[in-house]
This record gives sequence, C-alpha cells and structure tokens, in this order.
Amino acid sequence: MSQSINAAEVAAAFTEAFGSTPDGVWAAPGRVNLIGEHTDYNEGFVLPFAIDRAAAVAIKLRTDNVARLRSSYGEAPTVTIDLDTLSHETMQGWTAYPLGVVWVMRQMGIAIGGFDLFLHSTVPSGAGLSSSAAIECAVATAFNELEAAGLSLNELVLVGQRAENEVVGAPTGILDQSASLLSTDGHAVFLDCRTQESKLVPLDLAAAGLLILVVDTKVTHAHATGGYSARRASCELGAEVLGVSALRDVAAADLPEASGLLDEETFRRVRHIVTENQRVLDTIAVLDDAGPVAIGELLTASHVSMRDDFEISCPELDLAVNTALAHGALGARMTGGGFGGSAIALIPVAEEATVRDAVVHAFAEASFTAPDIFAVSPAPGARKIS
Ligand code: ADP
Ligand code: MG
Repeated sequence: MSQSINAAEVAAAFTEAFGSTPDGVWAAPGRVNLIGEHTDYNEGFVLPFAIDRAAAVAIKLRTDNVARLRSSYGEAPTVTIDLDTLSHETMQGWTAYPLGVVWVMRQMGIAIGGFDLFLHSTVPSGAGLSSSAAIECAVATAFNELEAAGLSLNELVLVGQRAENEVVGAPTGILDQSASLLSTDGHAVFLDCRTQESKLVPLDLAAAGLLILVVDTKVTHAHATGGYSARRASCELGAEVLGVSALRDVAAADLPEASGLLDEETFRRVRHIVTENQRVLDTIAVLDDAGPVAIGELLTASHVSMRDDFEISCPELDLAVNTALAHGALGARMTGGGFGGSAIALIPVAEEATVRDAVVHAFAEASFTAPDIFAVSPAPGARKIS
C-alpha cells in the first residue's frame, strides 16, 4: 500500500484478515510539531500540524466480547483477547494503543463489546511523528461514532492521552492527540495546553514557495522509559522549587532569579521551557505578520535550546539540522520528544534536491544509517474515510 491511505485497500485487507466487511474505516494523521517542544506537559503552548500520513483502522463490531486485532505492520500475528480480561498485563506490544483506548472508553462507561480491527499506518513508527497518537485517535474516533458516545474532540484528546499514559506507560502530554484530532487542511493548531483552547493558524507553505522536509534519522526512541520521563521530572522539580503549579507560570523575566534558586541542570531545563513557550507565541505573531518565510530563525533557536538546555537532541538530529541550514534551509529543528526521531527543515521549494542530497551525503560521511527524507504538508485531522 502507498503512503496515502486508500480506504478501499484497508477495507480489503480487513476482509482478507477476518473474512467479512468492516462497518467503516477511520483515519487519523501523524503530526509534525512546528514549534513548542516538551511544553505540553508544562501547561504551555504548542504549534503542531497534522501531516499527510495517517493510521487507518477498519472495524467491525462483533456480537460477543472478543476483540481480534491485526496490523499490516511487519509480521505481527492476529491478537485475540476477551475484553473482560483487559488489564495492564494483557494489553502489551502494539495492541496497547488500540486496546488502551477501548479500556479508557469502557472505564468512562461506554459499552464497547467485541470487535475485529485491522490497522494500516503510513506514519513511520518511533520517528517522532506520533504514530502512536495516530492509532489512538483513529480508534477513539471510530468507537465514538460506532457507539454513538458523543464525546467532543477535546474529550477524545484526553482519551488518547490516558491510553498513552495509563496503559502504554508513556508520560506524554496532549500535543500529539490534539494535533491528530483538531487539525484541518492547510493549518497548524495553536494549542494552550492548560485550557485545551485551540486556534487554527493558516500555514500555506506552497503559496510562500516553501516546503517542510522531514528527515527521519532512523534513531528510534522509547518514551515509556528513560530521557523523556527524566525531563518531565526535572520540569516538575523546577516548578516545585519556583513555587508554581506548572512552568507555564514562569516568565522570561523570572529567569535571572530562578537561576539562583535551581541547580545548574534544572535551571537549563526550565529555561528551555520558558523560552520555548515564548518562541511559540512569537511564531504565531510572525506567521500572522510576515508568513512562514519569516519563522526560520525561531525554529533554529528552538533546536539550539533543545540541544544545549534541554539536551534531548542526538548527533544524527544535529547533523540533519546543521546540514539543512548550511544548504539553504531557512530554519530547522528536531521535532517530537527527542533522543532520536525526526528533524524538520523549512526550505524554499527550489532547494529541495540540494538539501536532500546534502543530508544524505552528510549521513553517509558520518557513517550514520541512511535517513528517510520526505516532504510533508498540513493535512486534515481524524475522520471517517469509508
Ligand atoms: P511515535 O509515536 O513517535 O511514532 P511511539 O514509541 O510513541 O513513537 O509509538 C511507536 C509504537 O506504536 C510502536 O512501537 C508500535 O507499538 C506502535 N505502532 C506504530 N505504528 C504501528 C503499526 N503500523 N502497527 C502496529 N503498531 C504500530
Ligand atoms: Mg508516540
């Protein structure tokens, strides 16, 4: 199957797997975060957009209490489970994402019974483009409709987040699910993660003669463990010492005083969050004023802050960013949770081949795994596609 989701193909794959016709097919996109990294769980600002790669689920309700799940990804066999046995022990591997959503919705009193589910995703896994939220949001959107549950988009965001936090065990914020559910074609989503208020911001790259290239470094991250949780803990410590409920409440003007109260490392973590929130607000203002051609410096400043203050970059991401900048990118930064995954570069359309070639060459020179490089454009959010 190709990178664009074809509903008929997904339905046909469902039929091949389960021998019947699905009740429908739902798709939810992955996302690129334009700017605003690790600010979500600090109740700050983010500016993601949905990309033209998505997870699609074909689902048919059953009359018993059994769920059968299959993915087109790899050689994973069909997983069969009695829904009455759903627990943290039984929701393992990739099925933790769809079953986690079902578990959360059942906890909310939505009477989801047995079903067959076929997943096909074109969002690369572990590349920082949120293949996980794409699955969660496709499944949540599907059952919201199949069970006529009437949850709002903001409620579905929280369903996906709870699945990720409580079932998968990744302490992530609401960025990914909000992007996947709230996006519309040609726009980014400006989201206040404290209030869940959002505003669509036009992002017409083509009209400005620009495109965004994703460089998937192929360095995979694991958010359930390690660095992501450690960064979150640092932010919580910083907020506690500074006497605020979340780092959202620390302003740039408070930083000199904060530096005297925090240890050196925690201070740098805090400074990233504080300056990143401001960069999101500045990006909105610049987009409004001068359009995407003028946001490059903010993107690059965000990368520098993540590299030096938050320390979530890696040599492959830095090389992708530096090489893109040296070959015509207006701005570049790692995107997503970090420790691997993808970088984005904002480039004039005419420079695409030059930047691609330069990054491929630089990775080969450094003996890094060859990256996957592709353009993305702002796409619609989660929806029924068949
Ligand atoms: P990201 O969200 O950045 O892609 P995560 O680690 O949050 O990375 O999510 C990746 C996980 O999502 C994979 O380990 C796998 O369990 C699941 N996943 C992603 N794509 C698929 C797919 N097509 N089929 C089955 N599981 C998938
Ligand atoms: Mg994820």
